[in-house]
Amino acid sequence: MLYLGLDTLYEDEPHHQILFADDYRKNVTEIQNERTVSQDMSVYVRNSSVTDPLVAPAGHSNLYVLVPTINTRHEVDWPGMQAAYRDKVLDRIEAQTGMSDLRGRIVEERMITPQNWREDGSIFMGATFNLKHTLNQLLYLRPHNRYSRFRNLYLTGGGTHPGSGLPTIYESVRI
Ligand SMILES: Cc1cc2nc3c(=O)[nH]c(=O)nc-3n(C[C@H](O)[C@H](O)[C@H](O)COP(=O)(O)OP(=O)(O)OC[C@H]3O[C@@H](n4cnc5c(N)ncnc54)[C@H](O)[C@@H]3O)c2cc1C
Repeated sequence: MLYLGLDTLYEDEPHHQILFADDYRKNVTEIQNERTVSQDMSVYVRNSSVTDPLVAPAGHSNLYVLVPTINTRHEVDWPGMQAAYRDKVLDRIEAQTGMSDLRGRIVEERMITPQNWREDGSIFMGATFNLKHTLNQLLYLRPHNRYSRFRNLYLTGGGTHPGSGLPTIYESVRI
């Protein structure tokens, strides 16, 4: 994940855009196999300043960039590769959007890898979206909110019924 502070606003770029991998099937397979960090990655870019100018100082804007990738079950040298990976992601954005001079407009930057999520955020395997969204782990088939053995123990959050993402997590709390 990248948070970027820019000294410009890309007014013609939309709030949300998704740049799909050239070979999307391969990209998803690599993520699901949990071993390969896709070099042909998909990228979500959020340019929220076009909608709400208050999220950055006047004349500036922010971008939030999310690249779906693998968890930390199998060792990946994130510290060793993250600079090169960041460059690849920026290459893709510069080539496929109207932000062709993006690198030169960055004034603030923060990158968070799965290893950072694990170590700095105490997120199990750095998997911020928790269990896979496969059919056998979705909705009713996710771990239930009332623990089966101790009936006065309740589980909430993205790893439980009904699933990850804030609206669903609030539902788990409500249940
Ligand atoms: C980059 C990104 C973008 C996202 N975008 C969206 C979005 O647009 N919309 C949306 O709905 N969802 C989004 N999500 C998903 C959503 O943020 C998560 O599903 C949600 O935050 C998970 O909430 P949770 O309470 O289950 O777990 P968490 O928010 O991970 O909370 C678990 C807490 O437990 C703490 N903890 C861990 N171990 C221990 C321990 N042993 N003792 C005490 N505390 C511990 C952790 O530090 C953490 O604070 C996004 C997630 C990410 C990472």
